[in-house]
Amino acid sequence: MNKPVLAIIIPCFNEELCIKTTTERLLNVIEELVTKDKVKPESYLYLIDDGSTDSTWNIIEGLHNNDNRVKALKFIRNFGNQKALIAGLEGVREIGCDCCISIDADLQQDENAIENFVDEYMNGADIVSGIRKNRKTDSFFKKTTALLFYKTMNILGAKIPPNHSDYRLVSKKALDIMKLYPEKYLFLRGFFHEVGLKTAYVYFDVKPRMAGESKFNFMSLMVLALNGITSYSVVPLRFVTVLGFLMALFGFLVGLETVFEKIFLHNSPNGWATTIILLCVFGGIQLFCLGLIGEYVGQLFREVKSRPRYIKDIELK
Ligand code: UDP
Ligand code: MG
Repeated sequence: MNKPVLAIIIPCFNEELCIKTTTERLLNVIEELVTKDKVKPESYLYLIDDGSTDSTWNIIEGLHNNDNRVKALKFIRNFGNQKALIAGLEGVREIGCDCCISIDADLQQDENAIENFVDEYMNGADIVSGIRKNRKTDSFFKKTTALLFYKTMNILGAKIPPNHSDYRLVSKKALDIMKLYPEKYLFLRGFFHEVGLKTAYVYFDVKPRMAGESKFNFMSLMVLALNGITSYSVVPLRFVTVLGFLMALFGFLVGLETVFEKIFLHNSPNGWATTIILLCVFGGIQLFCLGLIGEYVGQLFREVKSRPRYIKDIELK
């Protein structure tokens, strides 16, 4: 196989403190790989400014003017990390590359692992997923919720590798296949795992954030997880059906028992507390299930409107 043109995709949202250092380090990585004759010298960086409100874009423009290997795209407003990644993947496909890697702007993911990604690509993998060796830098809360999410996803049938953040290499072939998926709320981790291309794994170290703060909060992580689940699995809907059936069966049996006691034992069970409890429990379960179905209706609602995934403002090629 010929050595590839590599594109490195970096989503940035208010990363004025990191972006300059990150760009320099990644350009260094590219130069090293060129020296080692592993990638072509036309390899480049592609930065997506996800509607930053600080000076991120100004810095990016400066970097682009200094070095044409720094290419960039600016969103009109913030669309979120997944959309920035999708825009990155679509952008580098248009500009042209043989494979691309997405990495966070804070360089929490060890950039020296990029060489291993490229090696796996040369060995014939179309997708190389980065797996974090540990979660030392995460809070207890994030660790637990992440674990819960991967477990839930696996039970629901959307088998995504645990501890995989969006640090991954994908080949041109995978990019072409992505074009065939018109869904607006594409969940990248699920998608790349599902397509069935040859996949390899690279283990890497996680560092603390270089500077600035995490751009994710509890709500945005919940939204990501919920979208991951409802866009990749209908098992929760089946669960609702089964639960409804079991509840109805239970009600029927209790009814039979009541009639039996009334007719043959002549005692009508008095159960004020029982009635209230059952009312609350069943009322709660019903509302929960309704909400769950609502999530899928919401998913449909958003997809049917089929609004653009993101809106470009400026592109520097
Ligand atoms: N990011 C983005 N849009 C957003 C939030 C985050 O493009 O709305 C980018 C951010 O600039 C970074 C990456 O997504 O490059 C991961 O974000 P962060 O490091 O804040 O997340 P964490 O590592 O804490 O999960
Ligand atoms: Mg980070």
